Amino acid sequence: MRTDRDVSDAPADLVFRGGTVLTLDAAGTRGTAVAVRHGRIVLVGGDDEVLALIGRRTRVVELEGRAVIPGINDSHLHATWLGAMWPNTVFGAADAQAGAPAFEGDPHDAAPAAPLVGSAAEIRAAILRAGELAASLGITSYTEPGLGPGEDAGATGCFSQAVLDEYIVLEAERALTARVNVLMLFGVLDGPSELHSFSSRLRATVRETERPAWLRIAGVKIFADGIPPMLQAWTRRSYPDGSSGGLLVTGLDAAEREANLRQMIRTAHRAGFQVGVHATGDRTIEVTADAVAEAMAEEPTELRHYVIHGDLVTGETLAVMARLGMGLNVQAGIAVQTSAWVAGVLGEEVAAAAWPLADTLAAGVSLSLSSDAPILSPDWREGAAAADAWMGPAAPGAEEERMLALLHAYTVAPARQDGADAWKGTLEPKKVADLIVLSADPLTLTPADLPGVSIDMTVVDGDVVFERAVALIG
Ligand SMILES: [Zn+2]
Repeated sequence: MRTDRDVSDAPADLVFRGGTVLTLDAAGTRGTAVAVRHGRIVLVGGDDEVLALIGRRTRVVELEGRAVIPGINDSHLHATWLGAMWPNTVFGAADAQAGAPAFEGDPHDAAPAAPLVGSAAEIRAAILRAGELAASLGITSYTEPGLGPGEDAGATGCFSQAVLDEYIVLEAERALTARVNVLMLFGVLDGPSELHSFSSRLRATVRETERPAWLRIAGVKIFADGIPPMLQAWTRRSYPDGSSGGLLVTGLDAAEREANLRQMIRTAHRAGFQVGVHATGDRTIEVTADAVAEAMAEEPTELRHYVIHGDLVTGETLAVMARLGMGLNVQAGIAVQTSAWVAGVLGEEVAAAAWPLADTLAAGVSLSLSSDAPILSPDWREGAAAADAWMGPAAPGAEEERMLALLHAYTVAPARQDGADAWKGTLEPKKVADLIVLSADPLTLTPADLPGVSIDMTVVDGDVVFERAVALIG
């Protein structure tokens, strides 16, 4: 039994019993019941052990064999853009129309002629709509990867400083139903960024928020390069036209662009900003890791800088990232959707070795899986199934290990990315009660079955933010 003994005699607000509780803690603790009080986990254990915590006002949820796991943390989710687009997604719309991905550019460039949101009311509606969707999918935390002045004139309106301002308003009203981390954006989404405006905008950024557990300005997003199918990922290989891509960071030549990217990372690191670098080419990821190594040598921190996408990451760079404590944030659905395009420009062999999820885990790099919604659907169950399919069959007897690794990539690893692993990401006494009820125990299933599992309840900070109607009857 794991319990918070200091306060173990007062009744719980919420008790779940009669099922499987996967804490996802380091010891792999499992229970059949979990108790919540004042927004925190008080006990994970057996059904008999929670009895003493059930009082007159305790809500008791009979799991009847269902499972409780930590809430999902979608660590790369453009929620405002998603809320403005849903039920459409960039790949989803293409799928529906043609039966195959029709879009051939950088997915982020699929911008409409007119902005999707303009007024504060429209931004607010988009955020709230995404929040409802997130709650229904069991998402209790997410990262908005790129909001700020770099996109104030952006085509969609979904990444501007005004969006961040609206998040601050919603948080003050206690209207958010998921915890939100924000990476600031000082350049253009999927476009250029310039060192001097980056540095001055970074200095001008106010990072303090009222309740960082709910809304936190984590750091900064840097778009370092484009994507392989557009011949933009900076690689040691050659594209069919003989080019090798390059950096989006501006500079007079390749050497200056690289120096400017390194300086951006150093500047952000010194200012205490976490850096999330959109990097797809092997050269870009290598330079990013090397710049982080230099910054860490100068001043070791726990900022947990990370690489976003990481398509062509090499084994050598993964080893460097592991040593530095850097994370990798990947969307397996993008691998599934675009690997044929990568094969078309860099060959089958490179495409087959791209997005090396199993190698990432084996190297000891903290792997976070995310949706990049609305590029892909925000449904983590599909994302986990895609990641499993991408990795190929698990070794015999290792199916449970594989499922646990996938669940970790949506809970424990992103909590680490958020610098919040001390208080969220697992179900342990004293940690926040961010949890979900699934209709089946995932450890009895294969990842391919996950999309068929329903999310019956979503709890954030001890409050029920979503409950599936059928679950009320059952
Ligand atoms: Zn993205």
